[in-house]
Amino acid sequence: MPIDPSLPYDDANIFAKILRGELPCNKVYEDDHALAFHDIRPQAPVHVLVIPKAAYVSWDDFTAQADDATIAGFMRAVGTVTRQLELAEPGYRLMVNMGQAGHQEVPHLHVHIFGGRQFFQMICD
Ligand code: AMP
Repeated sequence: MPIDPSLPYDDANIFAKILRGELPCNKVYEDDHALAFHDIRPQAPVHVLVIPKAAYVSWDDFTAQADDATIAGFMRAVGTVTRQLELAEPGYRLMVNMGQAGHQEVPHLHVHIFGGRQFFQMICD
């Protein structure tokens, strides 16, 4: 069920619980800005989620509200994770679902990293 991105941040969302250590995750990477872990329902041979440590509902919320250092730290973390996973060659795909039409389901910003296969169509449905 897609979220309503206009709602305030919900501390009970599943990624907030993972950040607080209340739920487990299959961790790939962590630094001051970000946590990365394997998606529980992978849609590619490599499917990793990168989330900011701070509380942002969505890409829209993050890019409007976060300060430059927070945005830079998060973006650099996404790049670090792709290199750690050795995806730069032959390549990979990043995706952010935003809000209802973007079919965002978890109301804490996350970047999907897909890799380990050849991608073709950008949007299937
Ligand atoms: P989105 O539709 O962009 O909000 O994607 C949410 C993603 O979170 C989906 O790909 C889910 O499979 C993934 N997900 C949900 N719960 C968990 C969890 N506990 N651990 C890892 N991934 C999860």
